Amino acid sequence: MAKDYYGILGVRRDASADDIKRAYRQLARQFHPDVNPDPTAQEKFKEINAAYEVLSDPKRREIVDLGGDPFAPAGAPGGGTGPFVGFQDIMDAFFGNATSRGPRPRTRPGADAILRLELDLHETAFGVEAPISVDTAVMCQTCNGAGAAAGTHPATCDTCGGRGEIQSIQRTFLGQVVSARPCPACQGYGTLITHPCQKCGGDGRTRARRNLTVKIPSGVEDGMRIRLAQQGEVGPGGGPAGDLYVEIHERPHDIFSRKGDDLHCRVTVPMTAAALGTRITIKTLDSEETVDVRAGTQPNSSLRIRGKGVPHLRGTGRGDLHVHLDVRTPTKLSPDEERALRDFARTRGEEVAELSRKQGGFLSFMRDAFNGHA
Ligand SMILES: [Zn+2]
Ligand SMILES: [Zn+2]
Repeated sequence: MAKDYYGILGVRRDASADDIKRAYRQLARQFHPDVNPDPTAQEKFKEINAAYEVLSDPKRREIVDLGGDPFAPAGAPGGGTGPFVGFQDIMDAFFGNATSRGPRPRTRPGADAILRLELDLHETAFGVEAPISVDTAVMCQTCNGAGAAAGTHPATCDTCGGRGEIQSIQRTFLGQVVSARPCPACQGYGTLITHPCQKCGGDGRTRARRNLTVKIPSGVEDGMRIRLAQQGEVGPGGGPAGDLYVEIHERPHDIFSRKGDDLHCRVTVPMTAAALGTRITIKTLDSEETVDVRAGTQPNSSLRIRGKGVPHLRGTGRGDLHVHLDVRTPTKLSPDEERALRDFARTRGEEVAELSRKQGGFLSFMRDAFNGHA
C-alpha cells in the first residue's frame, strides 16, 4: 500500500505547493526532536519529512496521485542536488545510526513513469493493442550500467577510505553525538569513477525512446491506469527499472456519451411518429438494432437497448444503450398542413385560437404591452 502522504501533512489532495510547504513547516516545528521530547515525535518527524520530500516534488507527487509510491527503497535522493541532501545524515546523527551506514550503492532502483494514452470509445469498449512510444532512462549499452569506461574499474576513495562517509563529533543540547556526512570526494559511494563511460558520463544509463505495445482490455474507463511492470525509468548505475503507468484518456464520441458502462444517445422523432408509433433503426457501437417507438411517446422519454453499452471490465456482460427521444414539433407549416392540423384539433375538441399574423402574434402583443405601446 502506498503511504497517505497527504494525510501525514494534513493537506487536501489539491493543495498548492505553498500550502504543502506551510503545512510541512508547521508540523516540522511541532515534531522536531529539538523541541518535542516525546519518543514518538522522532518517527513522526521522519514521516513528515518523507511526505514533504515526495509532495514538494511535482514528479513524485504525480506518482502519488496516480496511486503509486515514488519512494525508492534506497531512499537517498539521486544526484545529490535536492533540498534534502544530508537530511538522512542529520537524522542519523540524532538517532544514532551514524556508524552503521557504510557507502551507498551506486546501483539504485529507478523511478516510475507515466504516459497518457488517448483512445476512442470503440477502443476503450472493446480493447485494443495500442502501440506506444515511451521516453525513459535505459541501461547504458556501452558500460552495462557500471559507469566506468571499458577496461577501467571504480577506485576506492582515499578521502573516506571507502566508507562513503566522514564522521565528526559534535556537541548539541542532546549531548555529544557522532554525526556522519557523505564523503564530499565520492558523494558517499566510497568509490570514484576515475574514467567515466563516454556514453553515459558515469551514470550507467542513457535516455532512449522505445516503442512498446500495451494491451488495453475491453471496458476500461477514462482515467484508469494500466501498469507495465519494469518499463519505467532505469535507476542510477543501471538499477532495476520502475514501472510504467499508462493512463487512459477517452476521446469524446460524436454520438454516444458514456456514464460508467452505459451509453446514451439522442434521436429526433417527428411529432407524428411519436403520436402514431414507429420503428427506428439505431446504429450502436457494434451493431444495428431495430426498436419500436410506442404510439403516444412523450417528449423526454427514452428507450433502453439492453446489453448494447460498454462491456464490463470485470466479469461478463455489458451496459445498456439509452436512446433519448427528442419529439420534434413541426415549424413553418404550409397552408395545407396547417389546415390538416386544425382539422385534427377540431376532431379532438381542442379548439385553437388563431393568432393574427398582421399584428405579429401573441409575443409581439406582449412585448408592446411591456413597452407601454399597447
Ligand atoms: Zn555507460
Ligand atoms: Zn569518499
